[in-house]
Amino acid sequence: MNEISGQSRPKHIVLTSHPTGDQKPVPIQWGADSARERGPVIATPAGSGERNTIGSYSGSYSVYRALAVAAGSLDPLHKPDLTNTSPAVNLGPFPQWTDPDRIVSIDPWGHMVGAVFADEIAKGMDVRPTIAVTRARLTVPELQHSDGPKLEPDGKVLLESGEVNVIKIAIEPVWYLPGIAARFDTTEATLRRSLFEHTGGMFSELVTRPDMHVFLPPIGGITAYLFGDIEAISDPAKKLSCRVHDECNGSDVFGSDICTCRPYLIHGIEDAILTTQQGGAGLIVYNRKEGRALGEVTKFLVYNARKRQEGGDTAENYFERTECVAGVQDMRFQELMPDVLNWLGITRIDRFISMSNMKYDAIVEQGIVIDERIPIPDHLIPDDAKVEIDAKKAAGYFTDGQVPTAEELSNTQGRDLKEY
Ligand SMILES: [Zn+2]
Repeated sequence: MNEISGQSRPKHIVLTSHPTGDQKPVPIQWGADSARERGPVIATPAGSGERNTIGSYSGSYSVYRALAVAAGSLDPLHKPDLTNTSPAVNLGPFPQWTDPDRIVSIDPWGHMVGAVFADEIAKGMDVRPTIAVTRARLTVPELQHSDGPKLEPDGKVLLESGEVNVIKIAIEPVWYLPGIAARFDTTEATLRRSLFEHTGGMFSELVTRPDMHVFLPPIGGITAYLFGDIEAISDPAKKLSCRVHDECNGSDVFGSDICTCRPYLIHGIEDAILTTQQGGAGLIVYNRKEGRALGEVTKFLVYNARKRQEGGDTAENYFERTECVAGVQDMRFQELMPDVLNWLGITRIDRFISMSNMKYDAIVEQGIVIDERIPIPDHLIPDDAKVEIDAKKAAGYFTDGQVPTAEELSNTQGRDLKEY
């Protein structure tokens, strides 16, 4: 029995699956005209009668919080002290925030919680921000050795030291289940059942509390990096360069050469800086969706399967090998991705630094205009990553060059496992 598991905490386990007389969830009106009318998203652990969501704050990190309580290092009744944590810049509101169909996977008011619900928090309500907005300075070695146009310091975005000034925003997932179901053209009941069954029954309220429609899933979130003035990001009269990047730890952080992720990401940062210096703005959205949201274990299994198959690792068989292991080619489901763009008030992207047809289609479907699509320059593609790029071009990814023929696909070959 640990000492800090507080005196006022109930000794018995409080099941949230069966509403009792003391539980009075605060209503949530998704898409309402203000944060106050919409209502607070309360995802404190079991025991609070005000709780009005399924799941818990902090996405996948909620599991570590549970571990900290079990280990006796965290008081289960601890509430965050939000002094001085408010956003470093003002952002919104935008018209998209009050359209219940436009944003379904994040809480558009998530960064304003401390200010909007200050009175309730002072009275003891445990409502927490799901978005945090701060500033940062980046050092990116490749920018100083770029093969592209030489970046000149401007003293504002790019400093003499080579450092880059940005606004960075961390966003946790907050899912409005009816809206998520609509995006995937399914019913809320089917979605709830699948989420319940395929997480090993992790959240029983998905099936027992149809009165609760907001779910904080235990998955990774989003980080947005903004270059230039915050007002310019949402101003359609100013040019916007944007890359939507899905996490690839092996390439992004460690420089692994089997894919183009880091070189394309850096190219996006470079273009964001250039566009900002020309009077526009830049945006990098970084989604925690490792290995096409299949995870690194599946990803590395696929690498082995690709490199050991008969005939070697060819572009011709690139997608098929993923499907053999994972059952699907891709699990990123770009349908939810445009929410962050809507949240930032974006209606137009001038330079879209991506070749993905799935990302392009999802954004355009949301009514956001994309002017120009910028493929990765050939000289940035590592040799071993040519398999991926050729396979993607053949599968419909954007290119301003030639789409490889069937013969060329079988000739684009990566390194064998024995060659490492
Ligand atoms: Zn990658």
